[in-house]
Amino acid sequence: MARSLRSTTPHSRSRQRSLPTKGGDANPALLPHEAQNLRRAGADGDGGADVAVDLPRMERAVREIIIAMGEDPNREGLRNTPSRIARAYAELTAGLRLDPRVYLKTVFHVRYNQIVLLRNIPFHSICEHHFLPFVGRAHVAYLPRARVVGLSKLARVVEAFALRPQVQERLTDQIADAIMEGLHPLGAICVIEASHTCMTIRGIRKPGSSMVTSAIRGTFVRNHSTRTEVLNLIYGSAKLRA
Ligand code: ZN
Repeated sequence: MARSLRSTTPHSRSRQRSLPTKGGDANPALLPHEAQNLRRAGADGDGGADVAVDLPRMERAVREIIIAMGEDPNREGLRNTPSRIARAYAELTAGLRLDPRVYLKTVFHVRYNQIVLLRNIPFHSICEHHFLPFVGRAHVAYLPRARVVGLSKLARVVEAFALRPQVQERLTDQIADAIMEGLHPLGAICVIEASHTCMTIRGIRKPGSSMVTSAIRGTFVRNHSTRTEVLNLIYGSAKLRA
């Protein structure tokens, strides 16, 4: 079954995902294989269940990589490296075993109808093209329609989507779409700035460069002034971070 990621741009993907779904159990914030993982784990809907990582298989594969690069997997320093790497990958992809939707289920009904923004959420992920880390900050904002969620939950959503093989564009889209799905706000914005080690330590080697992506949903698409307000809130005091 061929599924090409390249044939679908993040934007057309989000348009597909924003179509109403019958039955209400399809999660537009998840890629098909991610939804499948959750179903296998019996976690679709309640989330959090563990799809076991095949650690021995991963260890065998890492051992092969060590041999293929011309190293000796039996020398003392490398002997336990396959198992360490396997456990590290299990940790770095822990989001595959989580359903980010669960974090948006506990909502508070309030009259507050101004922008809610959680700024500078640190995250790390691995790029799906090189399996090298990309590290940065996410800014997540929404304009509530009578429903708000605990701020820490927004950070949990970022983390659950980040801890899996990713591309930054999709990560940005998934977070914004999950907020729209879970909270039904008037609009949502996710801005992500990240430095990709696949670009800073290999390939073109441009340390210090960072990539910025944004996903804009709902009223923010049309309403220029509220969108500008959010961006000002994000970047207005950006200097404070340094
Ligand atoms: Zn990469």
